[in-house]
Amino acid sequence: MNTSAGILIAGAIGAVIGAMLTYLWRFSERRQNAIPEPTPVVPPGAEAVLSVLSSSAVLIDSSDTVVQASAPAVAMGIVHEDRLQPDELMTLVRQVRRDGQVREADISLQPRRGTTSYIHARVAPLSSRLIVVLADDRTREQRVETIRRDFVANVSHELKTPVGALNLLAEAVAEAKDDPEAVVRFSSRMHTESERLTRLVQQIIDLSRLQNDILSDEAMTIKIGELVSEACEHSATDAEHKDITIATDVEPELYVHGDRAQLHAAVSNLVENAVTYSPKGSKVSVSAHLDGEDVRLTVADNGIGIPGGELDRIFERFYRVDPARARTTGGTGLGLSIVKHVAASNGGTVEVWSEPGLGSSFTLVLPAFSAELDEEQS
Ligand code: ADP
Repeated sequence: MNTSAGILIAGAIGAVIGAMLTYLWRFSERRQNAIPEPTPVVPPGAEAVLSVLSSSAVLIDSSDTVVQASAPAVAMGIVHEDRLQPDELMTLVRQVRRDGQVREADISLQPRRGTTSYIHARVAPLSSRLIVVLADDRTREQRVETIRRDFVANVSHELKTPVGALNLLAEAVAEAKDDPEAVVRFSSRMHTESERLTRLVQQIIDLSRLQNDILSDEAMTIKIGELVSEACEHSATDAEHKDITIATDVEPELYVHGDRAQLHAAVSNLVENAVTYSPKGSKVSVSAHLDGEDVRLTVADNGIGIPGGELDRIFERFYRVDPARARTTGGTGLGLSIVKHVAASNGGTVEVWSEPGLGSSFTLVLPAFSAELDEEQS
């Protein structure tokens, strides 16, 4: 072999070794940069199944990263960026990953400051690397349950007052058997308390019927003028005692279609309140007119009025602006909540304007019923 052939062979061997070294170096570099675990693949078909479930679904990989989340899950607030929240739910996921057991829990969330929502979560292993979280929004159910519990507690509390008073008065009557005047006085108070109890029980029945959407009557055509006269008649004695004049101004041919007993209760409650919360010698006015396709029935007074901050609350069950005063007025705090429910279940709304010291005005807005319109439609 001559020298030049030797140089050529040595060069070729060097080139091959160099290429091999470069390849090995690149290979080791690629290994170093490689993601330790490849992104888990969602099992075929799982995506389609999750998309038809009514629950919101989230898939989490072994590094606690959310790899897939349905839009409602994000809206619900259980996914933020690529993490699952709150911590309670994350803990559940880790427990499931550890032992493979399906778990369920009721969890509360604060998606925004001051708001709380409730979810029911079911966590299960989907594959060796993926965990699935199925969540259902239970906020509404939770709220209904709280309202129901409060209502029952309030009812028991409210019933105890007149029943307790009747008990005491009965004892007082027995003790005063030799004092006819005291007996008359106590029995008159017993009468007042039993009336209050009757009213309370009736209003609780009315309200629970309305809440359960049980219509006491078939819907029928009702003349507004008649409803107003009956409501004024209902409060006539109280108004007379306080020297209050009830003035009416009702368009003659105004009709609505709805539940007569309910609407009667609503208008009567408004007139009764106007009389109750007005001073002696003042005036209450009841007016009704057609406004486009609606009847606007307004009960206005020049009474004590309602502070602005309370206006949102007066339609709540058992809410009274002045609970101490309610003992003398005999108010149950249910009247306006009945009015609001009646308005809603008869397709209408209720509006209020009030200014402390000036007075209040409550307006029932109900769809007007026109016989001609009805004939045209049928
Ligand atoms: P109540 O049986 O106590 O009158 P309501 O639900 O009818 O219960 O009314 C709730 C509260 O709203 C009342 O306790 C009272 O404080 C206030 N209110 C209602 N109507 C009037 C009114 N016309 N003028 C002043 N305050 C009123």
